[in-house]
Amino acid sequence: MSECLFCKMINGDIKADVVYEDDHVLAFNDINPQAPHHFLIVPKEHVSTINDLDERHEKIIGKLFLVAKKVAADMGMEEAGYRTVMNCNAGAGQTVFHIHLHVLGGRPMLWPPG
Ligand code: 5GP
Ligand code: ZN
Repeated sequence: MSECLFCKMINGDIKADVVYEDDHVLAFNDINPQAPHHFLIVPKEHVSTINDLDERHEKIIGKLFLVAKKVAADMGMEEAGYRTVMNCNAGAGQTVFHIHLHVLGGRPMLWPPG
């Protein structure tokens, strides 16, 4: 998707502060962090929202969580804990319409979120 911000990061057209990359996913620090650690993990295939997922995406969704676990451990968040969030559509706070898993940590997390 040529107009998609995260596709542009994946293609290298826009610079990202990358914390992990492989053939299928890219993870990079959020530009407006909401916690001392806040990074996003995106599939390299463009999928707009959770509503657009189907069985084909089963493996890549699992991969997002495996990368969350790995990078969170690399950042030393394993023991204290961290939060994963994926917003679906504007009403839930989604602003970039290429699915992404938020990973936040480095401070106590409150519940319920706003
Ligand atoms: P959403 O609100 O869609 O769940 O999350 C989008 C996230 O993307 C936000 O946390 C926002 O700060 C982040 N973001 C928006 N534009 C950029 C950008 O240009 N670079 C990076 N690294 N993050 C961005
Ligand atoms: Zn995209």
